[in-house]
Amino acid sequence: MANNPLQRRGVLFVLSSPSGAGKTTISRMILASDDGIGLSVSATTRPMRPGEVDGRDYHFVSNEAFEALVAEGEFLEWAHVFGHRYGTLRREVVKQIEAGRDVLLDIDWQGTQQLKQVDPDIVRVFILPPSMEELERRLRSRATDSAEVVASRMARASVEISHWAEYDYVLINDDAEHCRKLVHTILKAERLKASRRVFLHDFVRGLIG
Ligand code: 5GP
Repeated sequence: MANNPLQRRGVLFVLSSPSGAGKTTISRMILASDDGIGLSVSATTRPMRPGEVDGRDYHFVSNEAFEALVAEGEFLEWAHVFGHRYGTLRREVVKQIEAGRDVLLDIDWQGTQQLKQVDPDIVRVFILPPSMEELERRLRSRATDSAEVVASRMARASVEISHWAEYDYVLINDDAEHCRKLVHTILKAERLKASRRVFLHDFVRGLIG
């Protein structure tokens, strides 16, 4: 496969949205339908929610452990979100790339800005809710979050949304399946980008001399 003209660099595919806009659902749908992309499981200091699994949803760590990871340079980016810390572990991204997969990163606007500095080639997708009313309705329907948590997430949603123009693609999630199709189409198009095809130059030279 060394000279496969289709061989290319892996895509770091970032999905951001305010909490409740459906990003987690869309991520799961993409991961379930495409073997060529794997999730970068972030580390976080926030407590585990019911139904979450350590190592699958997040690497749940203590403040001290997070500090140590920061000091050891283990993060590609990290940020404070909702009073807790979240970060992308270098080894998570490397693991997917070494397995020949693209990498899905579910991170906020702060992390996206940092990651863009590390790798200007990242693909940034922002998912908007159809309306703030609908966002609030979705947040309220999550049994896990208290009224205060919902209120603080709504306040933070406006901040997150204000960064939409820093992204390469912006979608409105008024239908999860439609949104999934669009996100998948973006991923497939990004995979075909000429600039990612490392052996294309030699291949085309062979074709046309
Ligand atoms: P939640 O606590 O609802 O799982 O996530 C809260 C927010 O943290 C989401 O917007 C999510 O995208 C963001 N987040 C999750 N992991 C990371 C990470 O590794 N880095 C950054 N910067 N944000 C993250």
